[in-house]
Amino acid sequence: MQRRIIPVADFSAIPATPAVTLAPSGVLADTLARPLRDLRISVTDRCNFRCVYCMPRAVFDKDYPFLPHASLLSFEEIERLARLFVAHGVEKIRLTGGEPLLRKNLEHLIERLAMMTTPDGRPLDLTLTTNGSLLARKARALKDAGLTRVTVSLDALDDALFQRMNDAGYSAANVLEGIAAAQAAGLEPIKVNMVVKRGTNDGEIVPMARHFKGSGAILRFIEYMDVGTSNGWNMAEVLPSADVVARVAEHFPLVPLEAHSAAETAQRWSYADGSGEIGVISSVTRAFCGSCTRARLSTEGKLYLCLFASSGHDLRALLRNGASDADIASAVAHIWQARGDRYSQLRGSAAAEAQEPGAHRVEMSYIGG
Ligand code: SF4
Repeated sequence: MQRRIIPVADFSAIPATPAVTLAPSGVLADTLARPLRDLRISVTDRCNFRCVYCMPRAVFDKDYPFLPHASLLSFEEIERLARLFVAHGVEKIRLTGGEPLLRKNLEHLIERLAMMTTPDGRPLDLTLTTNGSLLARKARALKDAGLTRVTVSLDALDDALFQRMNDAGYSAANVLEGIAAAQAAGLEPIKVNMVVKRGTNDGEIVPMARHFKGSGAILRFIEYMDVGTSNGWNMAEVLPSADVVARVAEHFPLVPLEAHSAAETAQRWSYADGSGEIGVISSVTRAFCGSCTRARLSTEGKLYLCLFASSGHDLRALLRNGASDADIASAVAHIWQARGDRYSQLRGSAAAEAQEPGAHRVEMSYIGG
């Protein structure tokens, strides 16, 4: 098979220095009046899984040109940028990858981030999304470093299916062990994310619900999305969240719950018998762009304003070319204030293609999910 190299960041721009300097005020709004509240930081573009919908082995093979270490933001650089984002109003930081636990000494970064507070003195919500394979070993150290909680991806309990999906020989038991270790370490509430692909793992919806019901972990079903260009996404493989909820409710009666906040991505349901809750993230059938307060920082320091973006803004160039904190903070403010991204709302329309051309969309493994 002809090997394809997926372009991940060919269109990045170095932010210009605007005439007007914008200092952080803790309140920054984009063109749709959405504040900047969440920052997802990808700490590595590598992963030990080869999930078919994210890093298919045919593309991300042994010859794939992952980023060299010198391209990655250092922990000092990440900390410096994170401080500026917090000054602009970010309250939640999520570390992602690739698989973030593959980044060496990640606890050292967590220690630095955990020291930060919002302008009004509140601790950050500091979390991490992981495939769980290294969690059993690392949960205690992550908690000790100051991590608040974790989200673990798990797409099936059936081991043969799980191994087919991760295509790297990891067993579901290994991930469950990681979840148990995270619970024992107090990294709670633990969220378990299951991407549902119709015809592949939708038979696992009810077994997953049964397994996590009453466990304290919150299971969330995510509609399969058209992120990047390497997974051959097809609408026929999307199982709408409404169907997922109906399948669970057939076995375990559910009661709808109010959202914790306007920016919450998941719709929540509790089990009628009080034994916990589930969530559904309906990025395809019920877009939540109107309340999207998330910015994404890639492994090499490019700022993306949408999961479906095709271009980023090169903050690493500013960092490494001697820009001051005031310059970088001002650049971030100008970038966010010009943001109008709402890909999921426009999905399928000519406007969506004009906003983020499918042929060049950035890969999820590069900026985190
Ligand atoms: S499509 Fe983009 S703007 Fe819409 S919710 Fe997702 S990340 Fe946010």
